[in-house]
Amino acid sequence: MADLIVMSAKATEEDINRVVEKIKSLGFQVNISKGEEKIIIGIIGDTRGLSDENFKLLPGVVEVISILKDYKLASREFHPENTVIKIDGVEIGGEEFVMIAGPCAVESEEQVLKTAEFLKNKKCKILRGGAFKPRTSPYSFLGLGKKGLEILKYAKEKTGLLIITEVLSPEEVEMVAEVADILQIGARNMFNYRLLQRVGKIDKPVLLKRAFHAKISEFLNCAEYILKEGNNKVILCERGIRTFDSEFTRNTLDLTAIPVLKRESHLPVIVDPSHGTGRRDLVIPMSKAAIAAGADGLMIEVHPKPEEALSDGFQSLNFEMFEKLIEEIEPIIKTVGRRF
Ligand code: PEP
Ligand code: MN
Repeated sequence: MADLIVMSAKATEEDINRVVEKIKSLGFQVNISKGEEKIIIGIIGDTRGLSDENFKLLPGVVEVISILKDYKLASREFHPENTVIKIDGVEIGGEEFVMIAGPCAVESEEQVLKTAEFLKNKKCKILRGGAFKPRTSPYSFLGLGKKGLEILKYAKEKTGLLIITEVLSPEEVEMVAEVADILQIGARNMFNYRLLQRVGKIDKPVLLKRAFHAKISEFLNCAEYILKEGNNKVILCERGIRTFDSEFTRNTLDLTAIPVLKRESHLPVIVDPSHGTGRRDLVIPMSKAAIAAGADGLMIEVHPKPEEALSDGFQSLNFEMFEKLIEEIEPIIKTVGRRF
């Protein structure tokens, strides 16, 4: 992007005119200010999409500066009010604090039903569970696929919980959207632009997880891809990033991302301390910290028997630990003035 062209004070009139003509030919207006050491040419108009490459190599140009953010629809500047996403009586991004929980992967009907029946009486309104699992190793359990979706559908009918589940490819969006109330785009797919564009065309909320190696601006630009296609129901999810220390944690939960995202964007922010830490003993403390930092909700991995889980057992809470989590976070949720 280009907003200001800085030119050397030694630039000739011809050099300046060349830059001015270039700006005008691209449909923008100019504002020239001549100082003793530098000449600054301001570009007037919406400069998103205007590449700095247009100017960088022109004679006399010292620097091209961008001021506007390259994401627009996701920005709070563009949309000052919080976006509140309403799904069958649940509000995400409003006063309500939202709890999403369930197993990492759908493993069996019994496992999902047992978990869902437990969670529905425990402040949880949305059931998570992957039917299609993006695993680090292709030899790991990759999910039950379509059968997993059927199990989730059945769990919804039985318990009334809303369903969130991951979609891995543009071709599978339609199938997953038939069951899911919220489609999840996983960390590994945050940069999958075709998938983002595809979910941007459906009329269902999308929870976008931050890639482990993504800057916050990249995260918001990926949300922008979905918004730009017309789907304004985007939920951001901080799930931990890679830092240098993997001795004690799998990822580093970036708590600073929460207030930064809330300031930069109007979209709801959910925090996943399960993947964010990779260890179940860290889930409760980091949940508390996330609430205090302004999260709109949590996404927690829960399994009836974490020691037998086919994926992410190490970071999954058992039922007893989940009860403890609810008990311990409730006063904090009240203190920050949210409904639970
Ligand atoms: C998940 O939540 O199921 C998951 C795979 O997480 P992530 O994409 O954050 O790794
Ligand atoms: Mn998992």
